[in-house]
Amino acid sequence: MANPAFQPDRINHGFGPLVSHVLDARLRLAGHIRHTPLVPCPGLSALAGHTVALKLDLMQETGSFKLRGATNRILTLPPQRRARGVVTASTGNHGRAVAHAAARLGLRAVVCLSALVPANKVEAVRALGAEVRIVGRSQDDATVEAQRLVREEGMAWIAPFDDPAVVAGQGTLGFEVVEDLPEVATVLVPLSGGGLAGGVALAVKTVRPKARVVGISMERGAAMHASLMAGRPVDVEERPTLADSLGGGIGLANRCTFDLCRDLLDDVVLLTEAEIAAGMRHLHHCHGLTAEGAAAVGPAALLAGKVRLDGPAVCLVTGGNVDRETFRRVIEAADAESAAATALHEAA
Ligand SMILES: *Cc1c(COP(=O)(O)O)cnc(C)c1O
Repeated sequence: MANPAFQPDRINHGFGPLVSHVLDARLRLAGHIRHTPLVPCPGLSALAGHTVALKLDLMQETGSFKLRGATNRILTLPPQRRARGVVTASTGNHGRAVAHAAARLGLRAVVCLSALVPANKVEAVRALGAEVRIVGRSQDDATVEAQRLVREEGMAWIAPFDDPAVVAGQGTLGFEVVEDLPEVATVLVPLSGGGLAGGVALAVKTVRPKARVVGISMERGAAMHASLMAGRPVDVEERPTLADSLGGGIGLANRCTFDLCRDLLDDVVLLTEAEIAAGMRHLHHCHGLTAEGAAAVGPAALLAGKVRLDGPAVCLVTGGNVDRETFRRVIEAADAESAAATALHEAA
């Protein structure tokens, strides 16, 4: 889908303040996050007819780029807010990032989780130094408890994507990309809530206005894609997918990532489960990487011929937190369809 509402001029009009947030974040995060490697991918380069490089942000501490946004958000809190601690309600990469960032800064962190979250995930968050509070039987129940802590105890809510300071933190990845490959023409970004895609588009297009930024999601439950098509934030049904980190809604009262994605993404591409599995296998076989499904969508889109290149490209490989069994099944499966089908069957 070529984005019908794409407005390249918005980078100079309207989004200027956000761009300076990203530059600020770059300075603030020095010493807190890693400048991760950019490595060439000969296989994809041969296939696509242009240089393709992989930005390995799965090497960030906690295994994903989410440490950038979470750390930046926490560092921008005034000291008296910080002292009351931070709270979130995510089991995934964002929860880990908040737990780790808070522990590093010596702050109290509470992660609210539902009773349905598996014990190993609960332990992982605890091991990173956060206090886990088990409430209710759904993500919504956990979020209600987190909001209560914000209201009654003055803790600071660290949003997973829809917050200018989080977007700015994720955007620092975009500056690293243009520093390491100044001639970049296309950036392929895994897309869920749009904090990453919005921040990276701001950074990349500020320096390289002609570069294209393409968002990539799974066919199963792509909330930002559905919202862009509808012209406003909409809910989608959440379904099991190999790209589980890309699931979830964008929030019907979305504050900033919907506008950013509408105005700055050139295109949004959707992938089948088999295509995502092929991307994971490519990263494993050609680079020895353990990438989660969400992180493999860039290579997957190129392998599937769903993104055409007209110059050097970078795929953001965003995270490596995948459960062992799912990963083994995907890697060992002889044929793509059966890999995706088996992995999903077991996950459901
Ligand atoms: C969260 C996440 C994304 C998507 O980021 P958004 O800002 O929600 O669009 C992509 N990849 C991984 C591994 C993630 O954890």
